[in-house]
Amino acid sequence: MAYDDQNIFARILRGELPAIKVYEDEQVLAFMDIMPQADGHTLVIPKTPAVTLLDLPADAAAYTIQIVQKVAKAMEKALDAKGIVLMQLNGAAAGQTVPHIHFHLVPGSLHELGRHAVQMGDQEKIQALAEKIKAAL
Ligand code: 5GP
Repeated sequence: MAYDDQNIFARILRGELPAIKVYEDEQVLAFMDIMPQADGHTLVIPKTPAVTLLDLPADAAAYTIQIVQKVAKAMEKALDAKGIVLMQLNGAAAGQTVPHIHFHLVPGSLHELGRHAVQMGDQEKIQALAEKIKAAL
């Protein structure tokens, strides 16, 4: 699928829009979801421009999942998360709303998640949760 370099996550990656970051290296960025489905909802994105997992080169996918695991471990420790939902939507037909591949890490249970990308979270609370996750990385 053609990549739109004006999508929100591309703009966050370029520093044109703010984000509450928890981890960054040359290939990957992890930051807090602005409309969390549970406290601590974090997004992990490869910097490689790709709309869906199907478009992402395998080496970038392999590296990104390592960071997904790293952030999940930090989340478990920092937030005492008993469960972590890993979610990844491919295509608008699947419910994807931002056309840059991303992995959702959501502490809690699939059966108790808030609605997807609907309600803005409290930014101060999100910042505090991010600090906890960062400290556990
Ligand atoms: P998708 O529907 O594409 O799987 O998920 C996109 C996610 O990005 C949603 O959970 C939504 O809350 C989040 N999101 C949308 N716009 C922004 C933004 O500007 N900043 C951040 N941090 N998250 C966003």
